Amino acid sequence: MKIGMPQTKVSDYEFLMRGGWLCLDFANTAGSHASDHPSEHLPNYMALVAWGLQANAIDEREAKRLVREAEHRPREATTVLARARALREVIYRIFSAIAANESPNETDLKSLNAALAQTFGRLRIVLTKDGFSWAWAGDEDALDRMLWPVVRSAAELLVSEELNLVRECANDTCGWLFLDRSKNHSRRWCDMKDCGNVAKARRYYQRHKKIDK
Ligand SMILES: [Zn+2]
Repeated sequence: MKIGMPQTKVSDYEFLMRGGWLCLDFANTAGSHASDHPSEHLPNYMALVAWGLQANAIDEREAKRLVREAEHRPREATTVLARARALREVIYRIFSAIAANESPNETDLKSLNAALAQTFGRLRIVLTKDGFSWAWAGDEDALDRMLWPVVRSAAELLVSEELNLVRECANDTCGWLFLDRSKNHSRRWCDMKDCGNVAKARRYYQRHKKIDK
């Protein structure tokens, strides 16, 4: 692929879904999020579509449609990507504060409320053969449609009884957020195999360093 050529397919990057709640998985689209130099897992609009599809925020048909639309409206896709990243940081800061038993910053709550006002206006009740269900009204080609369920899920988590289960990975730099649904509420890591093992290896190293002296 030539540099600068538009990507025409959904990215095949596989996102790790460890949050247990949609908006937390969205917050975790940056690596080393608590460090000074987080890594970006949403490098372009196609990655945002891929995340939306893998997180079930949009379905395959919608994803394909968005990919096609983004090809025609690249500038708008870039704007949506920038908005998505900004929203991600707002969500990260709000739930990171909550995980630390602190109050979220007022500016961040304002930003979330502004997004809510835009998003909830799109919610509709539709009658299906199984009864009533929520649906998103409006433009099928809206490039930001994978963000609507994210905004809704952030609002729902804030008023949910599970809010007190929000944790931030105990690895200093990881910054990934998750719901601790473990039996004793003792989950400390986004994943024992990654961050948990790094910590274990570090403790092992520290112990043996002392013995060597
Ligand atoms: Zn972690």
